[in-house]
Amino acid sequence: MPANFKAELVACLGQPVAENPTGVMQEAAFRALGLDWRYLTIEVAPDQLANAITGVRAFGMRGLNLTIPHKVAILRHLDEVAPDAALIGAVNTVCRQGDRLVGMNTDGKGFLRGVRIDARVDPKGKKAVVLGAGGAARAIVTELALAGTEEILVVNRSADRAKAMVDDLAARTGCKIRWQSWPEIYQVPEDAGLLVNATSIGLYPDIGAMPPVDLSCAQPDLLVCDAVFNPPETRLLAAARRRSLPVLDGLSMLVHQGAIGFQLWTGQEAPVGVMKQALRKALGI
Ligand code: NDP
Repeated sequence: MPANFKAELVACLGQPVAENPTGVMQEAAFRALGLDWRYLTIEVAPDQLANAITGVRAFGMRGLNLTIPHKVAILRHLDEVAPDAALIGAVNTVCRQGDRLVGMNTDGKGFLRGVRIDARVDPKGKKAVVLGAGGAARAIVTELALAGTEEILVVNRSADRAKAMVDDLAARTGCKIRWQSWPEIYQVPEDAGLLVNATSIGLYPDIGAMPPVDLSCAQPDLLVCDAVFNPPETRLLAAARRRSLPVLDGLSMLVHQGAIGFQLWTGQEAPVGVMKQALRKALGI
C-alpha cells in the first residue's frame, strides 16, 4: 500500500476555547483506534465564523464541534441541519457528508445516554425538573421530551426566557412542559424522578455556588444530574450524595456527546472508557 501522510481534520471552534477539554478525549480516541486524525482547538471570533467555515470547506475537514458563541450562528453557514438540531435551534456538531456540511446537536443525546447507560435510568414516564433555560437546558429538555418523559418543569431565573423556550418546545414536541420562575429556594417535589442543573451555577471558578434548591422532600430514587463538568463534583451533587440520592455528573454528558460525535465523523464506535480516562487526567481528577 502506498504511504499516506495526510491526516483527517476535526476542530472545535469557539471563543473563549482554550480551556475546552474536548480535544483531549477525541485525540485519545483517535490514537486508541489507530486513526490518523487530528482534533484542533481553534479560537474563532464571531465576525470570523464565515471565513472559518470557508476554511473548513477548503481543507476538506471531516467535522466540527461548536461552542460558545457559535452554536446558533453556525446554522446559516450549513448545507443541512438535522431535524432534532433544528428543534433545539442550535448545532454543536458538524459532520461533512460528501461536500455538504450537516449540523447536528449531540448535547441532549449525550445527556440522555449518560442517564441510560451510566445512571441506568429510563426517563420514560418520569417527571423531570430542569433548572435553566439556556442552550444546554434546551437540548436536554428536547431530548427528554422526545424520550417520552411524562412531564417536564423548567425552572429559570428569567421568566421570559423560560416561557419562550417552553411554549415553543411544548408545541413542537407535544410533551407536557411547564415553566416557573425561580423562587428564593425551589422545593423539589416528591414526585420528581429526575432533577437536572442546566444552569452555569457552580461552574469553575465559581465552585462554591449552588442552585438554590431544597431536596428535603425528594423521593429516595430521584436522580440528580449536573451539566456542569468542571468541577465534576458540584455542590449540588455533593448535597444530593449527602441525602444518599443517585447522582450523574457533567462529565458523563460531555463524554457521551463526544462519543456520538466521534461515531458520526469516523463511522466507528467510540472507545468511551478511553475518552473518559483522558478527560479525567486532563482535568486532574
Ligand atoms: P447559557 O448561557 O445558554 O444559559 C445559562 C443558564 O444558567 C440560564 O438559564 C441562566 O439563567 C442560568 N444562570 C446563570 N447564572 C445564574 C444565576 N446566578 N442564577 C440563576 N440562574 C443562572 O449556558 P449553557 O446553557 O450553554 O450552559 C449551561 C451549563 O451547562 C454550563 O455550566 C455549561 O458548562 C454546561 N454544559 C455542559 C455540557 C456537557 O457536556 N456537560 C454541554 C453544554 C453545556 P437566565 O436565563 O436567567 O440568565
